[in-house]
Amino acid sequence: MSSPPSKKQKMSASTEIKYTQIFINNEWCNSVSGKTFTNINPSTGEKVCEVQEGDKADVDKAVKAAKEAFRWNSPWRKLDASERGRLLNKLADLIERDREYLARLETLDNGKPYKDSYNIDLDLTLKCYRYYAGWADKIHGKTIPVDGPYMSMTRLEPVGVCGQIIPWNFPLLMQAWKLGPALCAGNVVVLKPAEQTPLTALYVGSLIKEAGFPPGVVNVVPGYGPTAGAAISGHPDVDKVAFTGSTEVGHLIQQAAGATNLKRITLELGGKSPNVIFADADLDTAVEMSHFALFFNQGQCCCAGSRTFVEESIYDEFVRRSVERAKKRKVGDPFDDQNEQGAQVDQEQFDKIMDLIESGKKEGANLQCGGKRSGDKGFFIEPTVFSDVQDDMRIAQEEIFGPVMQIMKFKDVDELIERANKTIYGLAASVFTASIDKAMTVAHGIRAGTVWVNCYDVLQAQVPFGGFKQSGNGRELGEYGLQQYSEVKTITIKIPEKNS
Ligand code: NAD
Ligand code: MN
Repeated sequence: MSSPPSKKQKMSASTEIKYTQIFINNEWCNSVSGKTFTNINPSTGEKVCEVQEGDKADVDKAVKAAKEAFRWNSPWRKLDASERGRLLNKLADLIERDREYLARLETLDNGKPYKDSYNIDLDLTLKCYRYYAGWADKIHGKTIPVDGPYMSMTRLEPVGVCGQIIPWNFPLLMQAWKLGPALCAGNVVVLKPAEQTPLTALYVGSLIKEAGFPPGVVNVVPGYGPTAGAAISGHPDVDKVAFTGSTEVGHLIQQAAGATNLKRITLELGGKSPNVIFADADLDTAVEMSHFALFFNQGQCCCAGSRTFVEESIYDEFVRRSVERAKKRKVGDPFDDQNEQGAQVDQEQFDKIMDLIESGKKEGANLQCGGKRSGDKGFFIEPTVFSDVQDDMRIAQEEIFGPVMQIMKFKDVDELIERANKTIYGLAASVFTASIDKAMTVAHGIRAGTVWVNCYDVLQAQVPFGGFKQSGNGRELGEYGLQQYSEVKTITIKIPEKNS
């Protein structure tokens, strides 16, 4: 891996915006309505550019293009599976070629530190595309012994037109999680990036064309949720919707699928993940990983470790060290590689986080540090730590999606597991301990899609990710993720009984 350019390079100012239109049929077009929306730089609150605002009419055009690309005998349908793999590898190579530009664009649009965009987001994005490139010609069914003079086999076929609605916290990576498995399995796509962060998704559109994907296989329609997003989830010709975002909108997507054509849905939604620290854990590791579990990506992670449960005997020391660590966290210009924390994505998220911080104070949690805006422009928030948090406080129940840590105390493992499960969510959990028994008890007891032991946020393309309960529906990544982009077809053949 090459290293990112060091130091501040006035990179935000020098980042040229190349694509702001709607991408349909490998071509760029303006919105049917003629409307545009303003893209804001979260680090300054200032305008970056205008982007074409897609809505229902543009989604209709994109779905039509995708359907045409999926028609029987179309170039895409006739393409060898190994060739789909080659195209995905080619796309990954182009993303790698433009890695520095894409990382800059991501930071400009999202506000996350450039070094994270470059090292983490781009790294995982590339690995995701390459992982699924490898799968393309290895997706096969079974032959099944059946009764009578028959032979049965299964084939895994593409679902068809996939609507993909993605969030703003990891724009490039969420696009990869969606496009990788969908294209690998032979589907066609209409993707809507989040209105806060459309720029890298559009640039990847240009790379999809350059890689040689046939027109209409991938279409990217920037726009708002209730208009463009809802047009996708309610579209009668969309066969499947994959959504990542809030649990609230997850409900709407599922309802829209039910009200229209029963399209397949996969949902990756919110979380309030418990992070459990036993007294026998290595304290330095536990403090540092718990800090990372919450503060990484400005706290804007669906799987953030946002309920930190600490065993009674080390509670005071853990709080003391966690506060010390949070106070050291450097916040500011995401293009300055001294900074660990950049800006929250927009004013709406900023206000939501500040409101939850106020609620924590009012409900009697102990504000140990932070709690205020950082700097005088943009959407920066001080790293904030609350101790003495009670399970029924809003900050212990609601997804904050910001740099706000909640520390709670526990005594007994069984009580801990009950408390950890007292949430509508079930996305992730973690446990820090030197005891395999304790680790396995917690891993067993917590109802969540992922449990990390003595680590956090280890998310890799090979392993499935997704939620129990209201954290979602279905799994992304790994072989499980592929199943969600395939239909199983049974073909049964009669074997002639007489051969005369
Ligand atoms: P959101 O769920 O509204 O947005 C996510 C995506 O869904 C965006 O592309 C948006 O345009 C689209 N969308 C919104 N309304 C829609 C609708 N009616 N139909 C179809 N698509 C729609 O999330 P948000 O408003 O940006 O953030 C609100 C909260 O959601 C955050 O504070 C956070 O708690 C949570 N969130 C979670 C994730 C995650 O990774 N699971 C990501 C972003 C936000
Ligand atoms: Mn919303």
